[in-house]
Order: sequence, then structure tokens, then C-alpha cells
Amino acid sequence: ATPISIMVGTGRGATAGVLIKNAESLEIVEKVNTVVVDKTGTLTEGRPSLTTVKAVGKLSEDQVLQMAASLEKASEHPLAEAIVAGAKERKLEPKAVKGFAAVTGKGVSATLGGKAVLLGNAKLMQDSGIDTATAEAQVEEHQRDGETVMYLAVGGELAGLLGVSDPIKASTPDAIKELHDEGIEVVMLTGDNRNTAAAVAKKLGIDRFEADVLPDQKAAVVKKLQDEGKIVAMAGDGINDAPALAQAHVGIAMGTGTDVAMESAGVTLIKGDLRGIVRAVRLSRSTMRNIR
Ligand code: ADP
Ligand code: MG
Repeated sequence: ATPISIMVGTGRGATAGVLIKNAESLEIVEKVNTVVVDKTGTLTEGRPSLTTVKAVGKLSEDQVLQMAASLEKASEHPLAEAIVAGAKERKLEPKAVKGFAAVTGKGVSATLGGKAVLLGNAKLMQDSGIDTATAEAQVEEHQRDGETVMYLAVGGELAGLLGVSDPIKASTPDAIKELHDEGIEVVMLTGDNRNTAAAVAKKLGIDRFEADVLPDQKAAVVKKLQDEGKIVAMAGDGINDAPALAQAHVGIAMGTGTDVAMESAGVTLIKGDLRGIVRAVRLSRSTMRNIR
């Protein structure tokens, strides 16, 4: 490869907000035929807001939300921020909890008023033997709207449901369409549940997705696609995503995400706009054509 063409190529990318780390990254982008995208913070804004609070036991709706916020006060997860903000809006003061613990990819737990309280996904409930059957119809209804639904359990029994909704970025539909137009397959990856993932994928015309993926499984999904012979670019924004970004032929970080993601990436999209991937692909193709 001629260094000058590469420099011109990466320079043009930088002007457009697409930072390409080095010549290797630019060269591999040309060959990419599969783009794996993390849902939260990559396809979506990553700033969910509280849309549903349901009481399904003895507690009132306000009590459900207050307890949930009390647990989430100690969590740094975007879902936690949505719940804390939602409680604040209803003027509900979080209470002090004991023994807070975060369960990666599943939720949080603590003791509140002498009772064990759990907040998180279906897996978290299953792990503790909480029966969620009575709420399933309601849960599915909200998931089909693209909401992420969390279960609140108090003293071993289901007490409430909390639904948050994370808007799709304005630039995402065009980005998916442009990638498809370039003949690139898009695969969505998420720790979220199957129903919510299916709703978001359908809205965006994404035909392949992997749901219920634990953070440490993301890299394995990328590897699986590589084993199928795919040349994979992985786009993500979080600390969780770093191993998958490193595993991919080229990692693509959102400039709006974490530094760890950017360090593991060959390409950084400054404005977090996925259309930058298509720019990078076109740039790489024209640069490599010039060199040959
Ligand atoms: P993502 O891949 O969307 O970033 P995570 O792996 O962080 O998702 O979380 C997966 C799922 O675990 C969430 O959709 C949620 O149901 C549950 N979860 C994780 N952290 C929390 C939390 N702090 N409060 C409630 N639920 C949580
Ligand atoms: Mg994420």
C-alpha cells in the first residue's frame, strides 16, 4: 500500500468525523461484508426513559417505583438512570438500601426495609425462583412496543414491572438502508430480551439478531460469524463491548461512548452516527482502488 494514499484516505475520513486508526484498519474495512451492531447506545440513543410502571402485587405503583429507584440509585446502568429520573419526576424519594449488588447483564439486588429486593430481567427472576407467570401477558405487550421491561421482586414475590424505552437514533434507519445497499449484512446484538430485540429489529429492517447475550458472550458471537467466513465489523459504545470490538476484523466505536471502546476500535465515529460506517467503506474502497 502507498502510504500517501492511505494518508489522504484517513484524512478525508477525519474531516467527515470518521477516525480511522491506521492503514490496516482502512484496508480491512474494504472487505467487510457483515456489520454487527450493539443495540443500546449504538442503534438507539442509549438514553432510555421510564414509560411504564405496573403494580402486580400488594404494593402500589408509587411504592413499586420508589423501591426500584432506591435500588438503582447505586447503579450506573443507563436503565438505572431512567428509573431514578422517573421516580424524581413523580417526587418519590429513594430510600436507603443495604447490601447493594449488581448482577452483570441481569440486574441489581439489595435489602430494603428488611426485605430482599430484586430488580432486573427474567433471568434474574429465574435465578431466584421468582414466579413471573401471572405478569407474562403484560410483559410481552410492552416488549412488542420495543420497551425493555424489568421485574421488581420483594421478599421472594413479584411486586411490579417497570418499562423503559430507548429511542432509535434519527440517523439509524438511513444507516441500515445504506449498509444493505452496499451489500453488507447487519446483525444486531443485545443483552435485551428476544421480544424487545425483535420489535426493534423489525422496525429497522434488520433480519438477523442475537438477544439475551451476556456481556462476556458478545465476542463469542462475533467469532461465530467469523467462523461462518464473514468479514466482520463490530460497532459498539460500552465497556462491555470492548472484547467484541477487539475480536472483530475491525472494531467501530461510537465517539459518544466510552474511552475503552474507542481504544479497542480501528474506526471511531465521532458523532456516533452509523452512516459513518458506510462512509468508511466507500472511502476504503476508493483508496484501495487508487493504490492498485
Ligand atoms: P445491553 O446489551 O443492552 O447494554 P446489558 O447487558 O447491560 O444490556 O443488560 C441486559 C439486561 O439486564 C437489561 O436489558 C436489563 O433487563 C438487565 N439489567 C442490567 N442492568 C440492570 C439494572 N441496573 N437494573 C435493571 N435491569 C438491569
Ligand atoms: Mg450496550
